[in-house]
Amino acid sequence: MGNRQEPDHRQGQDDQKPADRFPGLDRFAAGANHIAGRLRPGSSGREYTVVDPATGQEVLTYELAGAADVDAAVAAAREALPGWAGATPAERSEAMHRFAAELDARAEELARAESLQCGKPLKLTREFDVPGTIDNTAFFAGAARHLQGQSAGEYSGDHTSYVRREPIGVVGSIAPWNYPLQMAAWKVLPAIAAGNTIVLKPAELTPLTSLLFAEAATAAGIPDGVVNIVTGAGREAGEHLVSHPDVAMTSFTGSTAVGKRVAELATATVKRLHLELGGKAPFVVFDDADLEAAVNGAVAGALINTGQDCTAATRAYVQRPLYEAFVSGVADLMAAVRLGDPFEAGTDLGPLISHAQRDRVAGFVDRARAYATVVTGGVAPHNAGAYYRPTLITGAAQDSEIVQAEIFGPVLVVLPFDSDEEGLALANDTPYGLAASAWTRDVYRAGRATREIKAGCVWVNDHIPIISEMPHGGYKASGFGKDMSSYSFEEYTQVKHVMFDNTAVARKDWHRTVFGDR
Ligand code: NAD
Repeated sequence: MGNRQEPDHRQGQDDQKPADRFPGLDRFAAGANHIAGRLRPGSSGREYTVVDPATGQEVLTYELAGAADVDAAVAAAREALPGWAGATPAERSEAMHRFAAELDARAEELARAESLQCGKPLKLTREFDVPGTIDNTAFFAGAARHLQGQSAGEYSGDHTSYVRREPIGVVGSIAPWNYPLQMAAWKVLPAIAAGNTIVLKPAELTPLTSLLFAEAATAAGIPDGVVNIVTGAGREAGEHLVSHPDVAMTSFTGSTAVGKRVAELATATVKRLHLELGGKAPFVVFDDADLEAAVNGAVAGALINTGQDCTAATRAYVQRPLYEAFVSGVADLMAAVRLGDPFEAGTDLGPLISHAQRDRVAGFVDRARAYATVVTGGVAPHNAGAYYRPTLITGAAQDSEIVQAEIFGPVLVVLPFDSDEEGLALANDTPYGLAASAWTRDVYRAGRATREIKAGCVWVNDHIPIISEMPHGGYKASGFGKDMSSYSFEEYTQVKHVMFDNTAVARKDWHRTVFGDR
């Protein structure tokens, strides 16, 4: 990896032990699976160590879940299904309100555990990951009572038809490491609000907050077996969960490459499938935009969670008159961002999730040096943590790797454009379609951008905010299906047409199409 330099900000403080940062660590000595309401060790025979990416210190070593652990979790979910699916919406809702209260009571513990395993600054986990999760839980507690079907009616004249909206069964979910708590919430909440039970596999790197989330569910009185966590490797526990004959649905959030493999396996067993995959969000700045707002928005949108965000601003297209000022504004602001220890007040940006991810990001940037200009950043400080400086790149071709591939790090590429048509065409020119933003004070330009950009979310004059009431999900290679909002019930329910004959006639008129005459 090229161009390392000494940090000019505080970095990981290795005098602080993981147990000082998150005092609740001891309980995971019992294992990294939560099955039928209690923690259990894995039985794959293979150990995994969670590492604090800010310091390189070992946080927790646990035995990975194997196929037998997945089987036990699926069996627990199956056993819990009739009772939970048969509970009234009000009963499920009350339990989920208690769940939200249990999470609220654990808010600081959840924030510290998330910061420890991910390297996220505490201000991010305290102000974004944790309150967002509690709000999601409260939202789905309410939404559990608002499952809707079409109205009943006599559509044939001789029958009454109505639609029942029913749970699908045992859901198997797989989550990534970038927002472990929020991803657990996005998977678990709509599934259980709709009456399903679930087995969730978090990423091996980040099991702590999914386990705390399940612990809060159990403490809230959500019956044992409704929410289960198995922490195992993707190839082993993940594939076994996706292929499991007793699992009715697969909900996957992760990379497009793994999503394709998951889709193959789920299709082989004819499962309902929901895929939330990678992104490469464009950030389109028209020449009438508020430049200061766009510069601030680009830096915040590119660097949130150290750029490990599927909706992060990754490609800024700036109309020629604003291009130079935008590049210098972003470079100056990026240089002022304070890298540092996630547990220190005043830290803006933590490390990447792992040293391997840091080296992967550095690889993308180092390869780009051959064909583009690294304006700022492009260096990893010399220390024990997996840090990488905020990086701004210009001069890359639209079809180059740095513009097309998902980097998942604190790297923003800026390219100029001339006409509005060109800017919008460039924005759409990757395989992904998860999120995008348009920056303009012209309502017609904004309207056009929101119509023409092919993405599951388009912000106008902002980039990143999400809200429980609104859907999140991709177009194109970013997947299909929605998380959050009442739209997620479409994923986690199936509709049944029920048709009653109203005539009580033994020989019905339509029977003559099969036997006899009128
Ligand atoms: P990843 O695809 O490597 O892993 C995701 C999960 O899949 C992990 O739990 C992993 O153990 C599991 N897995 C790996 N191989 C598997 C297999 N063969 N079968 C079953 N499961 C398997 O992704 P990651 O590196 O953990 O996360 C980063 C990716 O997630 C990025 O591409 C990012 O864009 C994406 N992401 C998408 C969204 C969204 O809402 N669209 C949200 C967050 C992250």
